[in-house]
Amino acid sequence: MKRTISLALAAGLLLAAAVGSAGCDSKYAYTECTSPLQYEAEYEGYFFRPTSHVYRFDRLAVEGGISFYYESDMSGGKVDDGIGKVLRLSELFAIEKPVYLSEEAMTHANETEFWVDPGDSAELIGGTYLAECAGERLPFGVYAGACAVLLGGASGGRDPSKRSDGCTELEYPLFTEDGADKKTRKAAWELAAAVAGDFLDGRSLEELLASGVSDWEEIFARRGVTVPAYRFRVGDTAFPVKIETADLRLYFSRDFRDRCYFEEFSYDYPVLTAFAGEGEAYLRETAELFGYGGFPEPVNVFFGNKFLPITSSGVTYPERNLIACNSVGAFAHEVTHMVTHYARGAGGYPLEEAIAQYFSFRSAHAPWTRLSLYWAYEGRTVRDLLYEEAGIVTEDGGERVRAAADVYDRRFGRATEEDFSALGFLLCCAGLFAGDDATPSIPSPYHPLRVSFVHYLMSVYGMEGLLEVNRNYGTAKIGETDFEGIVAGWREWLRENYT
Ligand SMILES: [Zn+2]
Repeated sequence: MKRTISLALAAGLLLAAAVGSAGCDSKYAYTECTSPLQYEAEYEGYFFRPTSHVYRFDRLAVEGGISFYYESDMSGGKVDDGIGKVLRLSELFAIEKPVYLSEEAMTHANETEFWVDPGDSAELIGGTYLAECAGERLPFGVYAGACAVLLGGASGGRDPSKRSDGCTELEYPLFTEDGADKKTRKAAWELAAAVAGDFLDGRSLEELLASGVSDWEEIFARRGVTVPAYRFRVGDTAFPVKIETADLRLYFSRDFRDRCYFEEFSYDYPVLTAFAGEGEAYLRETAELFGYGGFPEPVNVFFGNKFLPITSSGVTYPERNLIACNSVGAFAHEVTHMVTHYARGAGGYPLEEAIAQYFSFRSAHAPWTRLSLYWAYEGRTVRDLLYEEAGIVTEDGGERVRAAADVYDRRFGRATEEDFSALGFLLCCAGLFAGDDATPSIPSPYHPLRVSFVHYLMSVYGMEGLLEVNRNYGTAKIGETDFEGIVAGWREWLRENYT
């Protein structure tokens, strides 16, 4: 399965026509392509196709044995800039792929093409190419630093202890304008040049490209480089941010605006790294709870706004190893579906959604329900859509929500956003429905009653009991207690603790 954007060739036959530079302000000779190379961003194998820029490369310049394609509306100065930087780099190492110059696309390389934004520095452009050649085995800074050293424009060696923590990781965003502020970038470049300089003092670029983390341990230790448990891959235009952990591949699309955490989630490096670390931990812990050893391959998770209808915040396709989310807050819920699909066959049974909802409350990165439940608890009424998704019905003008908040205050004490227990509040909401005829078989799969039933089963019967009831819903028997008995016990427990 293809994992990343593929810039697919739409119309590929290239016919060279008038040769020359007359009328163009680029100093390099070019040919006009009467049948231009046309590219459209396409996500092969996935379920969405975003609207995107269509690249129409109608000019070709061949310099130093390299083919440079560009669009005729690009200014001559930009063309010269881009070609000039790549030619400089080609004196240091072979560039064997055709180059596509575009200010509309991020600099990135794939198996067959090298896309270059002429506005990027030669060091960044070269680092991107080398990273791809090396298979990105090491942090991006190693490759970018090598370019900086070879171009002779960088110096390093400042005391690493004076650097902020993020810089010492040498990961891709620290070298880009979108990923780090000027001061951080400067520090990252200096450190990168220092470590690459250490390695290249006595060894070749080829050795550097073939090296792995173990070859760098001594240099990294001496220079204060830390190798984190996540790795940022070089971004491309569709997904500027790509993070890999042991079990996850996280893709953040260009225009992603978190639907629920719009005030809190950003592309700031510490926010992204915290999310990657917490996401990995959540996935591992959840898999462990379900007794599952590991995934056949890392789980692909895409974050974007065009993947799903507004009424949905996430969707999981286990067969395609694919999750799509509108919000980082939906991650824990969706990834729980992935675990239950693989781990115990718990997916596809009546409590599947309530299980995903219940376990997602454990996520250090708050599930979106946590925030929307806090809004509900606070009596803010502007988030009706989210209340409904959380299973809290507001048709009664918010009366039930206020009543649940009263119970919460009585049971747990008045909460702030920091010490608010979303699960506690949800259980108080469930408590309001806990009359003699209350049933967890309520149609809404996310309803507080269903989630509270999962919590009850976990608390009293453990994971085995939960899965037994889920798989044999309505007929399950645990020990001497039949399904009716289990439900009766749950009702009583709700009334005792959450009313
Ligand atoms: Zn779900």
